[in-house]
Amino acid sequence: MTSDRSHHSDTILAHAGRKPADFGGVVNTPVVRASTIIYPDLEAYRASRSVKFGSLRYGRYGTQTAMALVEAMTELEGGDGAVLHPSGLASIAMTLRSLLSPGDHLLVADSVYAPTRAFCDGQLALQGIEVSYYDPAIGASIDRQFRPNTRVVFAESPGSLTFDMQDIPALSSACRPREIALVVDGTWATPLFCRPLSLGADVVIHSATKYIVGHSDAMLGVAVARDPWRLMLEKFAALNGIIAGPDDCWLALRGLRSMGARLRQHQHCAMRLTSWLDGHPAVARILYPAHPGHPGHSIWRRDFTGASGLFGVELAPCSSDNVDRFIDALSLFGIGSSWGGYESLVLPSSPMRTIGGQTFAGPLVRLHAGLEHPDDLIADLEQALSLLDSTKQHGQESRHGK
Ligand SMILES: *Cc1c(COP(=O)(O)O)cnc(C)c1O
Repeated sequence: MTSDRSHHSDTILAHAGRKPADFGGVVNTPVVRASTIIYPDLEAYRASRSVKFGSLRYGRYGTQTAMALVEAMTELEGGDGAVLHPSGLASIAMTLRSLLSPGDHLLVADSVYAPTRAFCDGQLALQGIEVSYYDPAIGASIDRQFRPNTRVVFAESPGSLTFDMQDIPALSSACRPREIALVVDGTWATPLFCRPLSLGADVVIHSATKYIVGHSDAMLGVAVARDPWRLMLEKFAALNGIIAGPDDCWLALRGLRSMGARLRQHQHCAMRLTSWLDGHPAVARILYPAHPGHPGHSIWRRDFTGASGLFGVELAPCSSDNVDRFIDALSLFGIGSSWGGYESLVLPSSPMRTIGGQTFAGPLVRLHAGLEHPDDLIADLEQALSLLDSTKQHGQESRHGK
């Protein structure tokens, strides 16, 4: 079942990548598990060698389940193709490896997801790739950071933990004339709320582990790209034997079908929580691009059509013991890594910056607004934040055992 680009994202989410006629009318593309593919004769076998991705050849290049997800993600982002990886971090690492060789220079946003930074510093830099960091607010002046060997600019908008917004069209206008690949980690917005390729990016990466799978039960990464970058990503995946399993692809396809409805509810919930938190005496600042006071709010309004459920809060200055006490007192917010599932989460956060940027007087926490009723989440936050009030903090026991 194909859907055309003129359809709204919700319609694409319902139809993209589905081929009921190929599976006896079954609505969803099934989990097709395969290693060997049997051919009727040697001629057919030999003919199959010329194409790796996009046709059924050998399990390592994906079966119909992976192909359905590739088709859906390509259509949602408006790219020329997509490559699947076993996690979001693998998508980031393999994309950068595909596009960079020893001697090349890579520019990375200073607000990037911490494991991305660890990969660049701990792997790429050791293998002779020059890595430097730039201020996420740099925009078109990124060209002043270019070196003759700059090949890739890596952006993430909004950035992890601090939610700095990046001007993707401005970065693109600097990169395009130099044929520098602009790679964007678009996990926070999903293709529903932002389509970086349409803003001038060359590759967009998603940790599908988050909203695309959407239920905290699979690890998966997707890189959607324009040509010729897409071909470089495919070649690298083929040479390295990198593949996402069909069960995980199926979970991502299932997740996509309801992603529009889920994301609007995450957005509604995050909006309610952030506006309630704003102005609370224990809260100094809200880090959420959809929040009117956010420094990147105008970029968000220009380039995004919505906001997801992940945001940060800067608390009024208090001890780290008090932050721990507040977090332990929450009963509806789970304590754990990752986000993008149906459940609310909380963690303390300490952004790592090497070139300055926003400074924070109070401690930061990161919250994920799940699909619970916002009134219940607000009541939970209210009782836990009351522990930060110094007049009450000694008299109350925190609740444990979530
Ligand atoms: C979680 C995350 C990743 C990594 O994805 P995994 O699937 O956990 O490997 C990459 N980028 C961002 C912005 C993330 O939040």
